[in-house]
Amino acid sequence: METTTVKAFGAASKEADLDQMDIKRRSVTSTDVEIEILYCGVCHSDLHTARNDWGGTIYPTIPGHEIIGKVTQVGEEVSKYKVGDLVGVGCMVDSCRTCESCKMDLEQYCKNGFTGTYNGKEKYLDEQTFGGYSQKIVVEEHFVLKVPTNLDTAAVAPLLCAGITTWSPLRHWNVKEGSKVAVVGLGGLGHMAIKLAKGLGASVALFSRSEGKIEDAKRLGADEVIISTDSDQMKKSRGKFDLIIDTVPYAHDLNPYVSTLNINGTLVLVGYLGDLDPILNSVPMILGRKSVAGSVIGGIAETQEMLDFCGEHNIVSDIEMIKMQEINTAYERMLKSDVKYRFVIDMASLKD
Ligand code: NAP
Ligand code: ZN
Ligand code: ZN
Repeated sequence: METTTVKAFGAASKEADLDQMDIKRRSVTSTDVEIEILYCGVCHSDLHTARNDWGGTIYPTIPGHEIIGKVTQVGEEVSKYKVGDLVGVGCMVDSCRTCESCKMDLEQYCKNGFTGTYNGKEKYLDEQTFGGYSQKIVVEEHFVLKVPTNLDTAAVAPLLCAGITTWSPLRHWNVKEGSKVAVVGLGGLGHMAIKLAKGLGASVALFSRSEGKIEDAKRLGADEVIISTDSDQMKKSRGKFDLIIDTVPYAHDLNPYVSTLNINGTLVLVGYLGDLDPILNSVPMILGRKSVAGSVIGGIAETQEMLDFCGEHNIVSDIEMIKMQEINTAYERMLKSDVKYRFVIDMASLKD
């Protein structure tokens, strides 16, 4: 298959800073869309992958799965998009499309494994997939999203991961007018969870370690902020919430949060992958029919639903725009929870 060479930014090894490199993109097949990338959000998963926190990173790795761009070419069978359209790509670029999950529009739970936008298996080339920290990407039409044109284009980028990852559990657990939702951690995912839950009519609380984020949380729509390191505040919140979305990226004690669930309530983990530490006490779950669950991103139809909802309700991410060359500093700031509330890379900087 023919390829074109494009500029990208990625990591050559676990220890290496991200740096400029050239990568190949496949030429468009009949069902492909070629996209010139305008903006790409910076997700904590990008950092986990660049530094091999989860194991399994194939180097070189080009992160980035909150992609907004303009269509530059389409294959002959593509019907939904034309050259010039504003489109998005999230965390998946393919899946088997035939298994039970895929048929139910749950490509993120594809029984054969979805193809990640980065660190997946490129379908036509003998190499890994490369993400959005690059000038161009070629993606199967089904995995391309329509982007509302009434919103700030750069601020839409984080909806493609942070938005859908929090939207999917809000919808699955049927959050609506009158629901009581809490969010743990005010970062990229957390701030979108607050905006989307408010948009659905819920009352929303934030659990945060950071006193300095109280005002921001309220401005973003939180009705209440509970400082999670203050045991009195935690005790006062017992038995309150129908749904908690926990976005914390590292192992932490879930027991105090489970106590704040109402009966039949669910705590959904979207941040941390791995063994829980300390271990979870089943007593409050059994005595209150409570659940601890997990969720990964969202299906393509659900992502389109979320983008359309954001278009109608004027919801975008609060972003700090950076140049591609500032990515290593951005990662260090993200590790210190010093992001308000999502970095977005202006990809024009890669042309310099
Ligand atoms: P982020 O912007 O860095 O936000 C994480 C927030 O968690 C921080 O702002 C901080 O909030 C809190 N936090 C950080 N370290 C903590 C610690 N050690 N203990 C307690 N709280 C801590 O990250 P993000 O981009 O939102 O991503 C969050 C996690 O979700 C990452 O692990 C990412 O890989 C994962 N993720 C999962 C999915 C999925 O599909 N399930 C999708 C995207 C991302 P406060 O300062 O308010 O406490
Ligand atoms: Zn992500
Ligand atoms: Zn499948």
